[in-house]
Amino acid sequence: MTVTELVSYEDALAAYEPVMGLEVHVELGTKTKMFCGCSTTLGAEPNAQTCPTCLGLPGSLPVVNATGVESAIKIGLALNCEIAEWCRFARKNYFYPDMPKNFQTSQYDEPIAFNGYLDVEVDGEIFRVEIERAHMEEDTGKSTHVGGATGRIHGASHSLLDYNRAGIPLIEIVTKPIVGAGEKAPEVARAYVAELRELIKALGVSEARMEMGQMRCDVNLSLRPHGAEKFGTRSETKNVNSLRSVERAARFEIQRHAAVLGGGGTIIQETRHFHEEDGSTTPGRVKEEAEDYRYFPEPDLVPVAPSREWVEKLRADLPELPRVRRTRLREEWGISHHEMQSVLNAGAIDLITATIDAGADAGAARKWWMGELARRANEEGVEPAALPITPAQVARVCALVDEGSLNDKLARQTIEGVLAGEGSPDEVVAARGLKVVSDEGALGTAVDEAIAANAAIADKIRGGKVAAAGALVGAVMKATRGQADAARVRELILEKLGVEG
Ligand SMILES: [Zn+2]
Repeated sequence: MTVTELVSYEDALAAYEPVMGLEVHVELGTKTKMFCGCSTTLGAEPNAQTCPTCLGLPGSLPVVNATGVESAIKIGLALNCEIAEWCRFARKNYFYPDMPKNFQTSQYDEPIAFNGYLDVEVDGEIFRVEIERAHMEEDTGKSTHVGGATGRIHGASHSLLDYNRAGIPLIEIVTKPIVGAGEKAPEVARAYVAELRELIKALGVSEARMEMGQMRCDVNLSLRPHGAEKFGTRSETKNVNSLRSVERAARFEIQRHAAVLGGGGTIIQETRHFHEEDGSTTPGRVKEEAEDYRYFPEPDLVPVAPSREWVEKLRADLPELPRVRRTRLREEWGISHHEMQSVLNAGAIDLITATIDAGADAGAARKWWMGELARRANEEGVEPAALPITPAQVARVCALVDEGSLNDKLARQTIEGVLAGEGSPDEVVAARGLKVVSDEGALGTAVDEAIAANAAIADKIRGGKVAAAGALVGAVMKATRGQADAARVRELILEKLGVEG
């Protein structure tokens, strides 16, 4: 199926109602793995962080990571879930080279948390996403396919395996079918993942950096004719790893399903790969059913039975949750629901807050992170937090603007320099010679020259057309290579021409 064969989004929605299910995997930030003492630090030599347990060697026995369980309970509580009084791990049996035990230790019919919800905001309206379950499991290792053009196994000459990731704790959060979102389904999907990410970060259980795979989303989607009870066959787009991609994947699948169904075809239940370049999906493998995995309770681990005292203690210690915090910040920053939603979607709330904490005012902090820096992050396909500039540095640029050392244009150049690795804002200002010309004598000369060179405009201004001063300001700014304070230049021009501003 190519993109040209899709039906338009409007036509798809006119004929069908989308039903979504979102499965989000979150890698916990514990120091050690879920069932052994191996380190989880990123960037180690391949297979350096392994032991008999996470390599599945005979005779090794797993032990549950208490912090992993605690994190799972915190996530469950923050998602308004019930917390199991007693639950077990289960073996999910399948062969895959990146899983040396030949089974994944997961949870099956006894998840640690279940029956919750998360309220998300789309266009100022609250949409409740119901949570089926949140369960604990472990990550697999990582395969690298070498020699092929695409990095996929097809066409590769050989594969490399790194088990450092095998056994890192994961929490999988599964929604109930999301119905009733209609044409906003893709936006609801994005808002849900964005909200969930904020929640996970607020709980401090993971950095939830999607671009690093610490949080990834499977988008299940099906269509049914309006008024139909029964769900259609779903496709599952795997491992979507940015908020934007979650929205695009849902949108593409709605259009693709509608094209297949509208053409009299049937949807195959399968996993699909998402392609960042054009927002399309292509088939992966035909989806297994749960029974294919031969789940059974894990005999090597004792059941998990969190005491009610512990659960209530964790509930009492939950931090201010993101939606409550956003309402507070929205009032403090004096912005609309819609503006706050953009900040959330851009992943910039913490950055703006930190910039304000470092001394900037709310308007300026938001302006830089949502303007210049959001644009740069978007261009480079990274989260703003991954840009090589800190909130403290942005606050310093704001301070330089406030004290009149930099104007807007120079501030932008300063930020450009910091991003280019030229040092701190002050170092960039010094090295690039960026400074507002505040020497009144030099400015006066530049203004005189501009007036002399533009006599006709000057006459208009003298005649009362104050708006024409803009052209002269522009001429002075050009002559000073942008390093003058435009407001002061305008004052000087009007002063010299004897006109009241
Ligand atoms: Zn290990």
